[in-house]
Amino acid sequence: MSKQIPLHDVTPPPPKGEGVDLYASREKIYTRAFTGVFRNLRRVGGALLFALYFGVVWLNWGGHQAVWWNLPERKFYIFGATFWPQDFILLSGILIVSAFGLFFITVFAGRVWCGYTCPQSVWTWIFMWCEKVTEGDRNQRIKLDKAPMSASKFARKLAKHSLWLLIGFVTGMTFVGYFSPIRELATQFFTGHADGWAYFWVGFFTLATYGNAGWLREQVCIYMCPYARFQSVMFDKDTLIVSYDPRRGEKRGPRKKDADYKAMGLGDCIDCTMCVQVCPTGIDIRDGLQIECIGCAACIDACDSVMDKMDYPRGLISYTTEHNLNGQQTHPLRPRLIAYAVVLLVMIGVLATAFMTRSLVGFDVSKDRVLYRENAEGRIENVYSLKIMNKDQRAHTYLIEASGLPDLRLQGRNQVQVAAGDIVSLPAELSVAPEHLPSSTNEVRFSLRDVDDGDVHVQANSRFIGPQVR
Ligand code: SF4
Ligand code: SF4
Repeated sequence: MSKQIPLHDVTPPPPKGEGVDLYASREKIYTRAFTGVFRNLRRVGGALLFALYFGVVWLNWGGHQAVWWNLPERKFYIFGATFWPQDFILLSGILIVSAFGLFFITVFAGRVWCGYTCPQSVWTWIFMWCEKVTEGDRNQRIKLDKAPMSASKFARKLAKHSLWLLIGFVTGMTFVGYFSPIRELATQFFTGHADGWAYFWVGFFTLATYGNAGWLREQVCIYMCPYARFQSVMFDKDTLIVSYDPRRGEKRGPRKKDADYKAMGLGDCIDCTMCVQVCPTGIDIRDGLQIECIGCAACIDACDSVMDKMDYPRGLISYTTEHNLNGQQTHPLRPRLIAYAVVLLVMIGVLATAFMTRSLVGFDVSKDRVLYRENAEGRIENVYSLKIMNKDQRAHTYLIEASGLPDLRLQGRNQVQVAAGDIVSLPAELSVAPEHLPSSTNEVRFSLRDVDDGDVHVQANSRFIGPQVR
């Protein structure tokens, strides 16, 4: 007979009248403005991203918007190329190569994507700038939030939220403009003639931008972004990280500029907390590498300016590696990174080849449901539906030919012109004298040849059905 071990719950009871609260409410982060090399780099990255995002949507190419997801017609224009649903394997390839490129950069340089070019970070920096312009720098904002509501406080808050909403609106309108041509969209939107869905989606993306960059900010990076979750497994001891050098900085403590701090037993950190005050995720990098760190290097800029003021060498917080921090040699070229680079290059090569050899004409043949019929001449006829897609940026005239059976005749149009990026569907009839039919089911082949250059030559197989052959 089994005996049970008696268990006793020894968890201390919560204080009277209180439960155990598993939710930690967010503490608002007031970031301090700063200057420095990495801030300038980030500005360049942000400016490039802004120019791309807001500029490309206004470019035209080949008589239409250069980058345009034309969902109703299921076409995607990207400058000179038109992609159809059949080409989405190529677009998936671009996404896979981009993701792999991001993995490669992460192994090499940690979270540089997050800190410099991720739209969440870039838009958050812009929103922070709006905050500074309307409510002042860190201390003024803290004071303003603590102060009771007044006309001045209301005016500042109103100005901040209006600016946020304006940027959110321009962002949302631009995003929708990639799906619905921006020029018409903008005109129709402001004259009240746009589709109801256009108003809905512009409103949705306006609020999404306002919410993400204005309110959620670092919480998107810490709790919502999947990339932040799995990138730590890609880090190794040679990956670039932003780190504080405790061997140099400790023991931290305040001192006068010209004090003999070594004699006082202090390190180079004057415990000014500037690195914490500029951090957009509100962490103290001196506590070590943390998942919240997006690698933006704001703390490096802040600490370097403190070091300059104290006449200490820069680099107490710096881009470094774990190996470097432990006094060991960093290996920029390591097997893992080389393997990633090789795979990435192979993938780019395969993708480039697939692009270059991509056929610029799509050709589908489907047979009519009526199996066959006999025409006035006594010939057996089959009817087909042909679909020709011209994926090129110019019109083409195609010659349609059929083969596969002796005495095979193609009736109806055998030449068709298809405009750039257009699809033409047309019927085609094939006929064969019954004595030339080897079996009741025969394979036939339709061919499409470009009349002008003779280059494009695609084929599609189908069946020719006839009566039972005795
Ligand atoms: S900014 Fe530099 S000196 Fe100031 S607390 Fe941070 S690490 Fe120490
Ligand atoms: S710790 Fe430094 S690098 Fe990391 S998020 Fe904060 S400011 Fe940016």
